[in-house]
Amino acid sequence: MSAVLNGIYIDGSWRAGDDVLEVINPATEAVLAEVSVGDAHAVTQAVDAASAAFVGWSKSTGRDRGALLRKIAQGVSEQREQLMHLQSSNNGKPLFEAAIDVDDVIATFEYYAAVAEDMDAGQDRPVALPSDDFSARLRREPCGVVGLIVPWNFPMVTTAWKLAPALAAGCCVVLKPSEVTPLAELQLARIIAEAGLPAGVFNLVCGTGLDVGAPLAADRRVAKISFTGSNAVGVQVMQRAAETIKGVSLELGGKSSLLVLADADLDLAVELACGGGFFNAGQMCSATSRVLVADSLADEFLLRLQARAEAIRVADPFADEVQMGALINRVQYQRVLGHIQRGIEDGARLLCGGERPADLPKGFFIRPTVFTDVPLDSALWNEEIFGPVLCVRGFASEEEAIALANASDFGLVASVVSRDIEATERVANALQAGLVWINAPQVIFPQTAWGGYKQSSIGRELGPWGLAAFQEIKHVISSN
Ligand code: NAD
Repeated sequence: MSAVLNGIYIDGSWRAGDDVLEVINPATEAVLAEVSVGDAHAVTQAVDAASAAFVGWSKSTGRDRGALLRKIAQGVSEQREQLMHLQSSNNGKPLFEAAIDVDDVIATFEYYAAVAEDMDAGQDRPVALPSDDFSARLRREPCGVVGLIVPWNFPMVTTAWKLAPALAAGCCVVLKPSEVTPLAELQLARIIAEAGLPAGVFNLVCGTGLDVGAPLAADRRVAKISFTGSNAVGVQVMQRAAETIKGVSLELGGKSSLLVLADADLDLAVELACGGGFFNAGQMCSATSRVLVADSLADEFLLRLQARAEAIRVADPFADEVQMGALINRVQYQRVLGHIQRGIEDGARLLCGGERPADLPKGFFIRPTVFTDVPLDSALWNEEIFGPVLCVRGFASEEEAIALANASDFGLVASVVSRDIEATERVANALQAGLVWINAPQVIFPQTAWGGYKQSSIGRELGPWGLAAFQEIKHVISSN
């Protein structure tokens, strides 16, 4: 194995921390790399550097910031293959999935580059007042030093969705990658370093949640924490942030539904169910792990879904024709198997999967799993599983389908499949979800909004909302 990688980048230079974390390849269980990581002291130094850099960066023009964001997009584009390989080997996802991640990162940086380039003209906007005695203008200003804390399931994408708008807004950043998947972000940091951002504008501290994430959320100089991860940690981040009244944006868990209405194209429905359940080995906040099917279609749908799920090639992310890779680590592998076991004990009927593929004795692999007859009060039906597990249930009416989908503490996304366009629009409008796909796979564009209702999110990422999350609003009123 090569030398220990420096996992700390502060004020334009790489540093080593006192502790070292092993990074594992989830498909082989081998150690991929060792990364030296930071602690509360490194967080303080990173916030020092970011605070000093904010003085100049916050006054830079949108045009200059846009040019730097374009350079980052260009750097990611030039290193596309390398980033894909890093992501697949660190995360267990097939290369074609890693390619989608990297392309999303490029598109996000390009989108916010254009947004930044447009900002100078509109920074001061006149506001119409009901009085001739005064005039007013509104300015949007960067909110300050921001802490970005990201998870392991889409490490580069969740990073880009925060980092690009934060830099576009004129904020200085301290990024904390997941301790499980730091490798692609370390490469991204090298690309950013080469793009020529002023020292201190972008800082990165690898390490655990308690050693790095918690002190970042507590630092009174940090104006805002943008966090993506589990609800349990989201609560802790919010509690820490509350002590200094800092803003939080939270992107948390989901328990989303795919609704297959009575006149759906069944092949399309099966394809979308597999995409929503098994992409990224089901480790998606947006997984449509509840599949609700019109009673009239349910038997045929289940037959086709089972056949399709059983045919999915689960393999090493670099294997030929691989369709699904490994789960992230042993903890997650055992958690998902625990959910499956408990679901069976609670009376759910296992149609297929539920175990490791026989030909893969090593690595954290689980076969695509389909349950039916899942009790409505079971953990399998209500909790986020974060693995390749679908729960299918019939419904008698559109109202029942909507009620079943909305009966959740979460409200991130939903999918609707039907040839009846009016019905799809009606159902989409009735669902408590931040994003609804109609007859479409889970495509996402940087121009649209990402985030959910209820306990799935606070705020929205992407689009103008993602930028606004890193801005303050200032009104200036003067006497005429
Ligand atoms: P996690 O909550 O365990 O960790 C997320 C990040 O928080 C990591 O960087 C971790 O080190 C850090 N952290 C842990 N404890 C902390 C603390 N006390 N203070 C501050 N930071 C701390 O989540 P995970 O297991 O990495 O990711 C899976 C979860 O992320 C799932 O629940 C999934 O639904 C969610 N997720 C949501 C979205 C979304 O957009 N809504 C996207 C991806 C993942």
